[in-house]
Amino acid sequence: MGDVRHYHNYINGQFLPAQSGETMVTRSPGDNSDLAVFPRSGQADVDHAVQAAQAAFDTEWSKVHSAPDRSKLLRNLAQTLRDNINDLAELESLDTGKTITETQLIDVLQAADTFEFYADLAGHIQGEVIPVPGDVVNLALREPLGVCGAIAAWNFPLMFLAWKTAPALATGNTVVYKPSELAPSTTLEVARYMHEVGFPKGTINIVGGALEVGQALAEHPDLAKISFTGSVETGRKVASAAGLTPKRVTLELGGKSPNIVFADCHLDNAVSGALNAMFLNAGQVCLAGSRLYIEDSIYDEFLERYISRVAKIKVGLPLDWDARMGALITPEHKRRVQGFVDRAVQAGAKLLVGGKTPDDPELSRGNYLLPTVFADVPPEADVGCNEVFGPVLSVFRFSGEEEAIRLANDTSYGLASAIWTENGSKALRVAKAIQAGTVWINTYLRVNPYSPHGGYKRSGFGRELSHLALEEFTQIKNVYIDHDPAEFLTIFE
Ligand code: NAD
Repeated sequence: MGDVRHYHNYINGQFLPAQSGETMVTRSPGDNSDLAVFPRSGQADVDHAVQAAQAAFDTEWSKVHSAPDRSKLLRNLAQTLRDNINDLAELESLDTGKTITETQLIDVLQAADTFEFYADLAGHIQGEVIPVPGDVVNLALREPLGVCGAIAAWNFPLMFLAWKTAPALATGNTVVYKPSELAPSTTLEVARYMHEVGFPKGTINIVGGALEVGQALAEHPDLAKISFTGSVETGRKVASAAGLTPKRVTLELGGKSPNIVFADCHLDNAVSGALNAMFLNAGQVCLAGSRLYIEDSIYDEFLERYISRVAKIKVGLPLDWDARMGALITPEHKRRVQGFVDRAVQAGAKLLVGGKTPDDPELSRGNYLLPTVFADVPPEADVGCNEVFGPVLSVFRFSGEEEAIRLANDTSYGLASAIWTENGSKALRVAKAIQAGTVWINTYLRVNPYSPHGGYKRSGFGRELSHLALEEFTQIKNVYIDHDPAEFLTIFE
C-alpha cells in the first residue's frame, strides 16, 4: 500500500534510533503489507527518556513554563492535528485497519478536541484555602507529580496519545509515552508535530517498542505515575511491577458491556445504537456493547430489524469511503476472534449472521471477518462472557427490570453499559443499579473530552478525560501558616 515509512524515537527533543539499533515493522491490517519501520527500544532508551523528562521537569516545564504557555502549546498542537487531518486519518486507517470514515470523523478530531480541552483547563488548576480555626492560613496546593509514564493499546492510537499526554502536560508533568507496537505510526508522526510546535526538549518523549519498553516503564523507580490502557492480563502485570517502586497507577482495561433494550424503547434508535455499540472499529473497542439483552416481548421484532441491518454492513479496505467495517489488527488476532466463533458454534450457539471471512477477493490479503451475531448462547460458550475484541455479538433475552440488572451485572468487568427505554424513572433506576463506569441512556459510545472515562470492577481504576483527569496527574501539598502573635504552645519545657 505504498512506501514503507521510517520512524525514530523522540527523546530529549531529538529523533533517535534505539540504542541497540534494533527495529520492528508494523503491517497494515487491510492487506498485511509493511507500513512502517520503527525502533525496538529497550531499557537504555527508557532510561534516557526518563532522565530527559526528569531534567525537563526539574529545570523548565513545571517551573518556567506557566499555565498560559502550556495551554498555548497544547492548543497549537491541536490545530496542527486539524491542519493535517487528511494525512493523519489515512495513516491511522492504514495502521489500525479501521475505516477512513471513522478516522476522519472520530479519531483525529477527538484527539484535537482533547488537546484543546486541556489547553482550556491548564489555567484552571487550583488548590484550596482550608478554613482552619485560629490565626492560621491553610493552603492545599495542587502540584504536578513529576515524570509520568504511559503505555497504550493499539485500537485508538491518536486518541490515547491525547487522553494521556494532554492532562499530564497541562498540569506541568513531563511524559514518557509508549505506543502499541501494533499501531505506532500516528503517534510517531505526531512526535514531529510536537517538536515543530515547540514543546521544550524532554517534556514529551515517545519510545517505540514492544513489551520490554512497557515493563521498563512500569518498573522504573524514577516515574511518579504510570497510566496504562490495555488488557486485564497486562494491566495486572503493570500494576504489580509498578508496586515494586511505588508510584501512582491508573488502569484502563477491557470490558464485556451489556446493552439493555427494554420493550418500551424507541425501536429504530435502539437498533441503530446496537449497531454502533458492536461494530464500530470492527468491535475492537473496550466499550463495545458485546452483550445485547432484548426484552422478551420485542425480541423477535428487534432481532429481525437488527440482523437485516447487520447483513448490510459493508466490510472493506480501510481507505474505502463506502466501507463501514475494516480489518482486525493482525492475522493472529483474527484467528483468536475466529476461535471464539468456532467454539460458540460447537457449544450450540445459534449463528444468526456472519461468522466467516468475507468472499470479496479484494479483501483476501487482509484480516477481515464479517459482522457476526449469536443468539441462544449457552453458558459454556466463552463468547458470551469473555472479551472477544472483534465484531462478534451475543444476544440474550430477558424479562423485566430485575432480571436485566442481574444479567448485566453478572460479569467481572464493569466498563460500560447502555439502557434503551422511554421511561425516565426506569432508566435512572437501572442506571443506578448497574456496576459500570459509564451508563448510556438511549445512546451508545458517546465519548468526549468533557466526560470521565474509566472502569468499575476488573475494568480498571482511575479516570481519564474530563476535569477529573487533572486529579490523576496532580498531588496536594498542605501548607500550614501559623501567624498567631501569641507565644507558641508546647507541652515541652
Ligand atoms: P495489551 O495488554 O496486549 O497491550 C497494551 C500495551 O501494553 C501495549 O503497548 C503493549 O506493548 C504493552 N505491554 C504488553 N505486555 C506488557 C507488560 N508485561 N508490561 C508492560 N507493558 C506491556 O492490550 P492490547 O491488545 O494492545 O489492547 C487491547 C486491550 O485493551 C483490550 O482488552 C481492550 O479492552 C483494552 N482497552 C481498554 C481501553 C480502556 O480505556 N478501558 C481502551 C482501549 C483498549
